[in-house]
Amino acid sequence: MDEYFPGVSDKEWSNWHWQIKNSIRTTDQLERFIRLSENEISVVGKKSHTLPIRITPYYMSLIAGSDPEQPLRKTVIPVFDELLSAPGEILDPLSEEHHSPVPNIVHRYPDRVLFLATGFCSAYCRYCTRTHMVAKDKCHVGIKAWEEGLQYIDEHPEVRDVVVSGGDPLTMPDFHIEYLLTRLRRIPHVEIIRIGSKVPAVLPQRITKSLVNMLRKYHPLFMSIHFTHPDELTPEVTEACEKIANAGIPMGSQTVLLKGVNDDIAIMKNLMHGLLKNRVRPYYLYQCDPIPGSGHFRTPISKGLEIIRGLRGHTSGYGVPQFVIDAPGGGGKIPMLPEYYLGHEEGFARLMNYEGRVFRYPDDVG
Ligand SMILES: *Cc1c(COP(=O)(O)O)cnc(C)c1O
Repeated sequence: MDEYFPGVSDKEWSNWHWQIKNSIRTTDQLERFIRLSENEISVVGKKSHTLPIRITPYYMSLIAGSDPEQPLRKTVIPVFDELLSAPGEILDPLSEEHHSPVPNIVHRYPDRVLFLATGFCSAYCRYCTRTHMVAKDKCHVGIKAWEEGLQYIDEHPEVRDVVVSGGDPLTMPDFHIEYLLTRLRRIPHVEIIRIGSKVPAVLPQRITKSLVNMLRKYHPLFMSIHFTHPDELTPEVTEACEKIANAGIPMGSQTVLLKGVNDDIAIMKNLMHGLLKNRVRPYYLYQCDPIPGSGHFRTPISKGLEIIRGLRGHTSGYGVPQFVIDAPGGGGKIPMLPEYYLGHEEGFARLMNYEGRVFRYPDDVG
């Protein structure tokens, strides 16, 4: 690391404020770590309709010196293809703005809401589904702007589950997070709170003892962490996950299926095994949302099904996430399952196991 960040002390490196302050945001800065490819250079200076660049020094250290095909590099460094929009790609594919009764709230399902606490992230993923709201002026919301959202939840007794996301809520100072959790915990019908974050993967330094000691006061609290590739599971990330798990916070992973990054059974199995070793339970595998300029990331649905087929039965059931497509237009997450049920025949259901062998189960009603 000294090669790329000369003179940085261990103390600075492990300080999350230092990491955010010294994040990589320009092409000039990128060139200190990697030789940009034609595809990466040609996006420079183009008015992209999507996202700025932002990469923590820590995450950059996993990318420095790499070639353009390196998986983590593709997730955070823009390429020319990002400027190309295909039919069906839209800025807010999940119609979150339509399902937003008040600012910062998306209420799509009967008993739970999404609370978008901030628009800031410590790293911007090029395939971000919330490209329409992150890293924009309007998203620097802060405590006062939450009031309407808190009031909405208070007035809707059916809301028993609040997903705090953004942007990335763990980029906020402890006292902002604590303020929000305190306010949510004051609402009697809010049973569980979940935090959605990529911070443990891109800024593990943020997971301090004081953060988890604060979070553990607001149980039952869950954390959904965005992990993409086994290369993210470094000793630093292991330490961060250990602190979260030891604070009694169950962790689930959310992974977006990305072409040339993780669209491979062996890579995905590796990731799921690595997550389980870190006490993170694989939760969702997402088909890439059709935001503008995401075509180069998108795999056919059959690829996700192939990956699920390659996991189910071949490894611990705990390591098999649910493969879902978040339906464009705001239909919510729809599970995609390989065909294991082959239909009925003479009072028997025909079922295929993970090895492709067919079995019969007595089932008259079918
Ligand atoms: C994903 C999502 C949730 C949470 O869904 P679960 O399946 O319960 O994890 C809630 N609200 C919105 C708008 C979502 O996109």
